[in-house]
Amino acid sequence: MTDDRRSPSGGWREVYAEMGVSTAHEPDSLGCPDCGDDCPRLRTATYWCPTHGTWRVAAG
Ligand SMILES: [Zn+2]
Repeated sequence: MTDDRRSPSGGWREVYAEMGVSTAHEPDSLGCPDCGDDCPRLRTATYWCPTHGTWRVAAG
């Protein structure tokens, strides 16, 4: 049994939680910044345009 709450690395849970909050607002699709097509989300801030390929949302 591991005890994450007492482990120094256990702090990642709080960090991840904060990151989750900051990224949770990313929609499942966005309009391509170049052509405006609807781009499905591949990852947290990575979207895919059928014309322009993958692109990322600028952080902040
Ligand atoms: Zn595009």
